[in-house]
Amino acid sequence: MSNNDTLGNARIAVLGYGSQGRAHALNLRDSGLDVVVGLRKGGPSWEKASAEGFKVAEPGEAVKGADLVAVLTPDMVQADVYTQSIEPNIKPGAALLFAHGFNVHFKRIDPRKDIDVILVAPKGPGALVRTEYERGRGVPSIWAVYQDVSGQAEAKAHAYANGIGGGRAMLIKTDFKEETETDLFGEQAVLCGGASSLVQAGFETLVEAGYQPEIAYYEVLHELKLIVDLFYEGGITKMLQFVSETAQYGDYVSGPRVIDAGVKARMKDVLTDIQNGTFARNWIAEYEAGLPNYKKFKQADLEHPVEVVGAKLRARMPWLQPETAKQAG
Ligand code: NAD
Ligand code: MG
Ligand code: MG
Ligand code: MG
Ligand code: MG
Repeated sequence: MSNNDTLGNARIAVLGYGSQGRAHALNLRDSGLDVVVGLRKGGPSWEKASAEGFKVAEPGEAVKGADLVAVLTPDMVQADVYTQSIEPNIKPGAALLFAHGFNVHFKRIDPRKDIDVILVAPKGPGALVRTEYERGRGVPSIWAVYQDVSGQAEAKAHAYANGIGGGRAMLIKTDFKEETETDLFGEQAVLCGGASSLVQAGFETLVEAGYQPEIAYYEVLHELKLIVDLFYEGGITKMLQFVSETAQYGDYVSGPRVIDAGVKARMKDVLTDIQNGTFARNWIAEYEAGLPNYKKFKQADLEHPVEVVGAKLRARMPWLQPETAKQAG
């Protein structure tokens, strides 16, 4: 494609064919670029990528001859994939691309000194990266350069971001440290950790006070989507426009009582643990020990009473069928 001179004749190896890998591979191919998908033979995605028309090879084979290698396997296997398949095979002067900086920033991967190392991370799940591309649009993406040996690292990051559609929307420059630390903080303090703990605490408060779990579920979990959709479309401003005056007044006087200065101080502690490597060290040790605490915490979440009543209620809301829910990524 004309907007892609830098990678126009390049061979791109996409390692992994999950949420991001599949969307990137399809978009890059539709942008006229030459893509090979690298997967383990017999792994869960091999058949799918072949059926969707890609050349598929073992990761090491896919890396050989590639001018750009996109590492889109799960974060915790990337260090092994690097050591076994990338380091011995990647061409000098080629680019190694990540969608999350964790392994490079926390030095689990020490990239060879004769390659470019770049990052392109769309700010959305893979399904959206694909559907927006198909609509002729794209998902805003952030990009960074960690190592530039060719003098072309920035141009390669832009060309890749254009190839997946991000350039049609907006590209924001970042660095590996900022991307890694803010991504971890967001998911821990607000998105996954903060939001799920807020919902569980609200549900427990109502149920312990004697209210029905079904009613509590609707008030603190189900309706959260309506509020978050308003945030997503128009920020807190739009939420305030759409809720009642009573809800607004309650927000102003009670929100800061629940999420008070103590919460913010603990958010700073969480951020400190991310910045100084404590979180990464603990998570890597947990992963290498076979996930004993992770499994225990997960089981407790899955068995929480809000999940028990939620499963029952969602079964009576046909618009929440798995096909629809999957779009959320
Ligand atoms: P995923 O779990 O959806 O898919 C991983 C893929 O890698 C699968 O196809 C799997 O079969 C394959 N795989 C697993 N082990 C492998 C191995 N040893 N060798 C080769 N292939 C292997 O992963 P994802 O969510 O797409 O995440 C990929 C990267 O993108 C991560 O760095 C993640 O942080 C980043 N990211 C994800 C999102 C998102 O929306 N999911 C958003 C931004 C960035
Ligand atoms: Mg993120
Ligand atoms: Mg993340
Ligand atoms: Mg939680
Ligand atoms: Mg209500």
